[in-house]
Amino acid sequence: MIWDTLTTTDFAGIDRRTPVILPIAAVEQHGPHLPLSVDCDIGRHFVRQAETQFGTEMLVLPQVQVACSQHHMDFAGTLTVRPETFLTYAADLLESVIAHGFDRIVIFNSHGGNQAIGRVLADKMGTSHRHCHVVMATWWTLAAAELTPLQESARGGISHACEFETSVMMLAHPEKVRTDQITGMSHVTTHEWAQEDMLNGARASLFRTMYEKSGGTGTVGDASTASAKKGERITDAVVGALEIVVRDLKSAGPRVAAVPGGQA
Ligand SMILES: [Zn+2]
Repeated sequence: MIWDTLTTTDFAGIDRRTPVILPIAAVEQHGPHLPLSVDCDIGRHFVRQAETQFGTEMLVLPQVQVACSQHHMDFAGTLTVRPETFLTYAADLLESVIAHGFDRIVIFNSHGGNQAIGRVLADKMGTSHRHCHVVMATWWTLAAAELTPLQESARGGISHACEFETSVMMLAHPEKVRTDQITGMSHVTTHEWAQEDMLNGARASLFRTMYEKSGGTGTVGDASTASAKKGERITDAVVGALEIVVRDLKSAGPRVAAVPGGQA
């Protein structure tokens, strides 16, 4: 179910245990071969697929399109808001949802720059609403186990405008992929302890802008190994993993209530 296609009277018939999905994305550069809309397009693609497979089990809020992309601002066209702006805005959105009686929320993220603030948002909502189940899920970590065997590129090939993102775009929006602009591997290595990609976190997080990580190309990874077929496999993996979260949340019992004063 899509939140803003319903009428206000429709809500009377909706089980308040239905998980509510908040898609969060970005409008930022994705190298020369992909448009600024990639993270919005990919998030919408997964949600659309989920809607056809188990749409009655969830409610989908309007996507937050512009979020935290400060680290892309060296590249023209990128739009960003400050982390505190995002946090205030997204928390207000979720407060509205909770005010209407819903208590199960999934923040569904399709942008690397939203991962840290998305966790902060989940922590904030989960602590201020002790009865609410709040999940923060970024698509590539949500389906990491299923996605790992799909990687064909060398180490460093999956990060940004990369093998995976380009594959999903080739499936969802082939008309938006400028295949003649795809080059091979593009990423700037750093200290061993700070190396990371979509599926392998770093031991310690070293801040670098996308300009630094990409060496100025805007692409971190290897889009030359992308294909629409792989996009299908990625979609199946992500939507399947999201379905498990939605179904588990819907059937979850109440959270354990704390005793005032912290005494067990
Ligand atoms: Zn992206």
